[in-house]
Amino acid sequence: MSGPNTNYDPVEVTSLHPNEVARMRDEALAAIAAAKDLDELRSVRLAHVGDRSPLALANREIGALPPHARKEAGIRVGAARKAVAEALAARQTELEAEREARILVEETVDVTLPWDIEPRGARHPLTTIAERIADVFVAMGWEVVDGPEVEAEWLNFDALNIPPDHPARTTMDTFFVAPEDRNVVLRTHTSPAQARTMLTREPPIYIVCPGRVYRTDELDATHTPVFHQVEGLVVDEGITLAHLKGTLDHFARAMFGDEVRTRLRPSYFPFTEPSAEVDLLCFVCRGESVGDPTRPCRTCSSEGWIEWGGCGVVNPRVLRACGVDTDRYSGFAFGMGLERTLMFRHGIQDMRDMIEGDTRFTRRFGWES
Ligand SMILES: [Zn+2]
Repeated sequence: MSGPNTNYDPVEVTSLHPNEVARMRDEALAAIAAAKDLDELRSVRLAHVGDRSPLALANREIGALPPHARKEAGIRVGAARKAVAEALAARQTELEAEREARILVEETVDVTLPWDIEPRGARHPLTTIAERIADVFVAMGWEVVDGPEVEAEWLNFDALNIPPDHPARTTMDTFFVAPEDRNVVLRTHTSPAQARTMLTREPPIYIVCPGRVYRTDELDATHTPVFHQVEGLVVDEGITLAHLKGTLDHFARAMFGDEVRTRLRPSYFPFTEPSAEVDLLCFVCRGESVGDPTRPCRTCSSEGWIEWGGCGVVNPRVLRACGVDTDRYSGFAFGMGLERTLMFRHGIQDMRDMIEGDTRFTRRFGWES
């Protein structure tokens, strides 16, 4: 810094020359405008406004001017510093707003994204349909009965009028629990639960037994070695086939809607006499594909009806084996596959979908719990 000098002319001091002050100001303004972010602006502030900046140094030179020259130079340098300070403040505000806008975009939380990355579990459609069926019968005053899946051979066969030499005994491909002479099987149907009920209780009996059963079938589109049945049994005074038909019609409407039609087709089961298959009018072609080769129906093979299950009036031999007085009581029984019922209800083509545990399949049934 120079000392006071009365002959001093600001125009002759290089740093205070109007062109030089304008150059320093323009240089600072250009640097401020070029600053791309707040860090760069901080460096610009240090270089053009700091204690060692050209304008700050020029400002100090003013003190060395003769008094008459100080005012003019002071106004010139002051205006330049004010312009730079204002541009700096304006750019600061601008860059802060830009940073906030960027943060808003970068850190945006999309509230529509799923918040639970782990999908919620749900009960299997076979479980929920078993409960729906149970509800239908509970609403009529029936009871839901369960039984063991590992069952005495006598209860699975003999009590149900299937003696050891009976053909049905060999056609029901049975899993025997080793050793075979222990006479224990994996139940081939839920009927032993009915026998157990009759053996331990007095009529009237109105029960429904949903449960898992086992047969030595290979897994394919329509067979599985483990499947589910629901059986019903009524033992009371004056029970006839008409009660059975009425019950099945109600059951079918509860499962498939009021439009459904059922028919009983004569059949044979050792534990019922007479026995019948329960057929449903094909829900795809409604029987209209019968005799019409132009409209073949894959669901019913153009037969108009599809088999749902079996039923009949309980064979008195079964009642007697289970200690029921056949002079006083009679009964009816029926059994349906739950997989088959679910397939009909929801148009499922392949039984394997129901047992493979793929959630893409079960998800279609919603998250019932
Ligand atoms: Zn059909």
